[in-house]
Amino acid sequence: MARRRRVYEGKAKVLYEGPEPGTLVQHFKDDVTAFDNKKSATIEGKGVLNNRISEYIMTQLHNIGVPTHFMRRLNMREQLIREVEIVPIEVVVRNVAAGSIAKRLGIPEGTQLPRSIIEFYYKSDDLGDPIVSEEHITAFGWATPQEIDDIMALSLRINDFLVGLFLGIGIRLVDFKLEFGRLWENETMRIVLADEISPDSCRLWDVETNEKLDKDRFRRDLGGVTEAYQEVAQRLGIMPEGGQSKRRGPMLVK
Ligand code: UDP
Repeated sequence: MARRRRVYEGKAKVLYEGPEPGTLVQHFKDDVTAFDNKKSATIEGKGVLNNRISEYIMTQLHNIGVPTHFMRRLNMREQLIREVEIVPIEVVVRNVAAGSIAKRLGIPEGTQLPRSIIEFYYKSDDLGDPIVSEEHITAFGWATPQEIDDIMALSLRINDFLVGLFLGIGIRLVDFKLEFGRLWENETMRIVLADEISPDSCRLWDVETNEKLDKDRFRRDLGGVTEAYQEVAQRLGIMPEGGQSKRRGPMLVK
């Protein structure tokens, strides 16, 4: 295969130049990191599962009218995406207290929040992705007020949809992280969902047992990371070829 130009390499993904201008190939690696890269490992099969899960979720979001960078899956580990200018902000949506909000505000993990909460973090490895407010974002020009409005409206729609989607397969969507990009089409620009949505970027708890089905299994040395991601894929009805699927898509749980 001809060598492709690598445009960017992150912790869990690589971006290559795509076949046409304005496209990129997003490659999902098996590497996993946590705690500002202080902890890292390779988890066999994770990339394949995240590629599938993110494809499924992006496609469902597209079907309800949420614009995304996703075009199509190319193979087990790669998907074709539209090239966007990434807004340097990580958007976290929370429904239940866990992780950093539980620690920062002293809220017991598992507490249902009074309403969904959106937080912004400035994307900077050197600074460890500090939490920032809308004031910081607009004052420093990371995004305009209009862009923040669009990002917040899209984030809440995505949250409402995903809470229902996961509840339908017996999973509580505790929190998740989104990234957005600017997509230029001729002279106009619009904000679209970018990056990935997978158990690497979400907290997913089994409704009945509270078992963690996400990256916290790695962060907290709980083991069974691949099995947990596989469980999510299986419940969504999207096991990769050869895998056994017990269920076909979301179904009502009790
Ligand atoms: N998250 C992520 N990438 C990051 C930071 C957070 O995908 O760089 C996700 C994380 O998996 C969780 C949510 O965002 O689902 C909220 O994370 P939190 O702020 O609690 O930080 P953490 O506990 O992961 O350090």
